[in-house]
Formats: sequence, C-alpha cells, structure tokens
Amino acid sequence: MSRLLLCTDLDRTLLPNGPQSESPDARLRFAALAARPEVMLGFVTGRHRELVEQAIANYRLPVPDYVIADVGTTLLRVEDGAWRVDDAWRGRLALDWSGHARDEVRRLLGEFADLRPQPADRQGEFKLSFFLPLYRDADAMLADIERQLAASGLAARAIYSVDEPNGIGLVDILPASASKRHAIEFLAAELGFAADEMLFAGDSGNDLDVLASPVPAVLVANANDAVRISALARSEDAGHRAQLHVASGGLLGMNGNYAAGILEGVAHFHPEAIAWFAKAA
Ligand SMILES: [Mg+2]
Repeated sequence: MSRLLLCTDLDRTLLPNGPQSESPDARLRFAALAARPEVMLGFVTGRHRELVEQAIANYRLPVPDYVIADVGTTLLRVEDGAWRVDDAWRGRLALDWSGHARDEVRRLLGEFADLRPQPADRQGEFKLSFFLPLYRDADAMLADIERQLAASGLAARAIYSVDEPNGIGLVDILPASASKRHAIEFLAAELGFAADEMLFAGDSGNDLDVLASPVPAVLVANANDAVRISALARSEDAGHRAQLHVASGGLLGMNGNYAAGILEGVAHFHPEAIAWFAKAA
C-alpha cells in the first residue's frame, strides 16, 4: 500500500464521547498518521458542517481533507483552510430527486400531517428532517413516504430513529444515494483510490452499511454488542467478512476504543503503516 484514504465516523469513533475510556496516546498517534503525506483523511458523520468544525476544535483533531456531512448529503473538500462543497456530489443527489428542490419535496409530503419539521439548522439542501410522534407505526409510514415520492419520480430514502431522551421519533428524508457508503465510494472513485487503499472506521447503526461493504473497515472496540453482532452477521452474509476487523485492544498497549480502534484497523490491514504512528506518543 503506497497511500491510504482513511474515512472515519466522528461521534464515539474518533471522538471519545462515549462511556468507555480513551487510551492516553491514541489521538496523538492518530494525528501523526493523518499528517503523513500518504494519508488522505475523511470525516464521515451525521453532523452538519459547523458541528464538525466544533468537534475539530474541541477535540483537537487534525483538519481532514474531506468531510462527508449530514449523513452523506454533503461532501466538502478542505483546501488551504477553505471548505468547498463538491458540486459533482450535489449533481448526483439532485438526479435522485429529479431536480426537485427541498421545498417541492416538502410539499409532496403535505398529506403526512403527523410529520412536524425539525428546526432549520437540521435541514439541508438534500435533507428534510421531521419529528414523528412515537405512537405512529413508523415502518408503514416510511414505506408510504417513499412510495409517495417515487410516484413523483423521486428516488428517496426515509430513515427513522428515536430521540430517547426527548421521547420523540425522528424522520430524515434523503436522496436514495445519500448514505455514508455511497458518498465514500463516490469520493474514492473521484480520487481514483482502489478498495485496498481505503479504510473506514465506525461504531454504530448508520455505519453498518460501510462496515459490511467491500471497503476494508474496522469496528472500534467501544461499539456495543448489538452493533458488533450485526456488523459481523452482515459482513458475513455479504461475503465481506475478511474486510471487517473488530478492534479488541492490545496494539501498542492501547485499548482499541475510539482512535485506538481506528489505528488497530490500519495495523490489521496495513501492518507496514504501524511505523507511521507508533513513535508519535
Ligand atoms: Mg458514531
């Protein structure tokens, strides 16, 4: 391997903001790896741009070369400190929505009276976000939403999650191609990186798509059991079990959580790269 496109999720993958502890030198070593000229760094996150910048400042992260934000709906290139939206990715997503603007998509959803818009800072050019009461049958509604949009020529995905602390359902409506996996594959193709020159790191449900894909990937050790079981089963079913490493700790005395897990993935697929970060601490 002469170069590496290293794509990582942020919350509870690179950011040590879960209940488990972070090995003291893990992030320093990660920064040393990211500083290597052979390494291109991408952050892949549900966060929007401002929250990514906040994470970089708060956790003293290296500035990435690319940011896939808003769950895959935005691709940003960072060049000399300037963040630029990748228009090719926008064009790809616009195709899914057959040129419909967000407000038009919103109008097409008018009949779903239980959908209440989330605040403006959670909306994006290719992301409509709503609250949904917990009493609604979310699965049936998501299928209805996708059907309704398909009838107007849009390829859209509706994603449901629950905001447990606030006791409310959350619905995101995105172009069908807007996912972490599609965005990473698009970026790799644009840059001409082959699968064996890539590594993805993640910890949770919205990382499973990439964890089970042909892209070499690592699940950090702090991931919960349900995600670990699901990642192993899905990568096995997809025939990509060899492309998934589950971090367990032990590399350079680190515990495999967060950045240490990412480094463990690098070491697993590219042992020669251990020298790029081993001495940093
Ligand atoms: Mg995460």
